[in-house]
Amino acid sequence: MKELSNISLKPYNTFGIDAKARCLAEYESVEELQHLLQKYRDSRKLHIGGGSNLLFLNDFDGVILHSAILGVEVVEETDKDVVVKVGSGMVWDDLVAESIEHGWYGLENLSLIPGEVGASAVQNIGAYGAEAKDFIVSVELVDMANGECLKMKNEECEYAYRYSIFKSDALIGRYAVTHVCYRLSKVFVPHLEYGGLKKAVEACGIALDELTASRLRDIIIGTRNGKLPDPKVLGNAGSFFMNPIVDRVKFESLLAEYPGMPHYEVDDDRVKIPAGWLIEQSGWKGRRLGNAGVYEKQALVLVNHGGASGQDIVRLCETVRSDVSDKFGIDIHPEVNFIE
Ligand SMILES: Cc1cc2nc3c(=O)[nH]c(=O)nc-3n(C[C@H](O)[C@H](O)[C@H](O)COP(=O)(O)OP(=O)(O)OC[C@H]3O[C@@H](n4cnc5c(N)ncnc54)[C@H](O)[C@@H]3O)c2cc1C
Repeated sequence: MKELSNISLKPYNTFGIDAKARCLAEYESVEELQHLLQKYRDSRKLHIGGGSNLLFLNDFDGVILHSAILGVEVVEETDKDVVVKVGSGMVWDDLVAESIEHGWYGLENLSLIPGEVGASAVQNIGAYGAEAKDFIVSVELVDMANGECLKMKNEECEYAYRYSIFKSDALIGRYAVTHVCYRLSKVFVPHLEYGGLKKAVEACGIALDELTASRLRDIIIGTRNGKLPDPKVLGNAGSFFMNPIVDRVKFESLLAEYPGMPHYEVDDDRVKIPAGWLIEQSGWKGRRLGNAGVYEKQALVLVNHGGASGQDIVRLCETVRSDVSDKFGIDIHPEVNFIE
């Protein structure tokens, strides 16, 4: 167990915001967490993972909790698949790498997403057509109000695009995720339908029937590294905005005006439009407002050019939102968690 007082949160959020916290407490077991919850029962609490989807707007007058529960344990196994129980403090990408090494497949498309296992179940992380919810069997939790343990099955977590019940108004901040169970396949089936993956594989001269999970992972890592800023170099939290979903009438009218508009069918009535394209068309790609800016290679990413405060990022966010709304009549919403 580790407890630090009056610390800067700069190393604990990938935006590099220099907010302060009264205390940061890290636990290595459920029992240690329960002890901390009892000790800090009257304090405001926030559970973080790797801090890669957080924006601190102010100093945090309370206790920041962090899981250092590690380990991957096989809890079920058949000829076809395994169920592994993973500690919430494990770095997500280490799990992806380790599972491929063991011959457990499915997570390859989620390679190199920053953050930890606990947050994968809160955020329902996704990339290249895969989402954490496709693999999550159950989530083990501790109620931060009373220290009680509970387990929720996938169906109870209400997963949707970058959403879970843990982000709902009723439950946000209530539970600490201590373990997540994932079902992984022993058979590798590549999913190359999204984000130009098939082309990227072909460009490497690999025949589809020779593609391995490990090779696919390398290709995804290479592609991601080319597109997204490294938070160690340029503070950011990945995609800042969610891609808006509009009704078909709105979509048709926009398409008539912007025939090249990229889009993805959601269902008969709805279409998803990339927020990055809307921001770029609004003239924001590569622009900055003080020390906060829109990334020059991908307009969906807001960056800290150095010394930006949480409020600076919010100011940029609101200006971009307002310009997108004026131009397209679409309200885009942040994906990043704002911490007041
Ligand atoms: C460069 C970059 C690229 C990214 N690319 C992607 C991408 O492709 N796809 C994608 O989905 N996301 C992406 N993200 C966003 C981010 O990686 C994910 O949202 C990730 O799940 C956040 O994990 P974290 O451990 O850093 O969580 P944090 O940012 O610390 O926390 C996120 C939320 O989860 C809660 N939380 C975290 N851990 C726990 C826990 N153990 N118990 C209870 N609550 C908890 C926090 O309270 C907060 O609400 C990217 C971010 C960056 C910086």
